[in-house]
Amino acid sequence: MFRGLVVSVAAYLMAVVPAHGQEPATFTVGPLRVERGAMVSGHIRVPDGIDSGTTIPVTVAHGARPGPVLAAIAGTHGYEYPPILALRRVRKALDPTRLSGTVILVHVANMPSFLGRTIYYSPTDGKNLNRVYPGNPSGTVSERIAHVITTEVIDRADYVVDMHGGDGNEALRPYSYWMLSGDARIDSLTKEMVMAFGLDHIVIDRDRPRDRNASVYTSNTALTRGKPGITTETGQLGSDDRYWVDLAEQGLWNLLRHFGMIDGDVERPQGIVWLDTYEVLRSPVTGLFRPAVRDGYAIAEGGLLGVIEDFFGDRVQEVRAPFAGIVNYVLGTPPVSAGEPLAMVSHIKRDQ
Ligand SMILES: [Zn+2]
Repeated sequence: MFRGLVVSVAAYLMAVVPAHGQEPATFTVGPLRVERGAMVSGHIRVPDGIDSGTTIPVTVAHGARPGPVLAAIAGTHGYEYPPILALRRVRKALDPTRLSGTVILVHVANMPSFLGRTIYYSPTDGKNLNRVYPGNPSGTVSERIAHVITTEVIDRADYVVDMHGGDGNEALRPYSYWMLSGDARIDSLTKEMVMAFGLDHIVIDRDRPRDRNASVYTSNTALTRGKPGITTETGQLGSDDRYWVDLAEQGLWNLLRHFGMIDGDVERPQGIVWLDTYEVLRSPVTGLFRPAVRDGYAIAEGGLLGVIEDFFGDRVQEVRAPFAGIVNYVLGTPPVSAGEPLAMVSHIKRDQ
């Protein structure tokens, strides 16, 4: 009886004086209303506008105990399956009665791209969802999705992880982005997050926009709103292989452990390779790309990454590494349009 009273008073105080973001007894995301200790799944509707609307499947687990609000977003690019599959696993295994804080799982951010099986771009409006943040409620469907995720998910979260992989055309070595925000407090928190996620290659990204009205990228939308956010990359070439799904799932459990939302220790890699600059090489022409390296290979300065050919099989141009480093990803299927990425090469930070 006495113990019950103490718990009630503590719960009352925590409801009155929230320690983290939104701490009411009922947590709402879109149409979902979730009581403490419960988990609810449903769809947020992106209304029709100047083009067709869509829906975003979301799960909210509102822990029995207070704690931070972590949003995990999968399917920003609909051909990047491992994070989408990992979130389904986490939903199955997550017990809200043993959870501290709240988890928002965005299962498929970009339903038009997922169902349309498109890389990079929405089949509806031809836009890249991860280039239109913070979105626009009266824009095209990608912009409206971004607006819904900004206002219904990122604005309600304390921490955001945007989970990607190599797209359907990209052979990729797993890595994360630590995006510097210019705010030392946030940068320290995101560094801890990105290390806790557990991928052993981390790109230090200094070049993301600082304007909250032109944040462009999903996790940068969190950063420009004063919240820690990271981007992770697990998967490649449209694969649903469990190796990739395991990596994505393990990373999310690690974040939950890192924030004390579930019990257990973060499982960390033996060491981390920090990558301090990078370059995305883009094709000057439309044609076919033939890679000379695979994902994750170290490459020398001037090393051959691949060859662009025309549609008759004649060599148009060699593509070479601008500096020695790691191949984060390389195009793994032949088609390439002028201006599209061929490969990303990162420089290994010397003073690890
Ligand atoms: Zn992506």
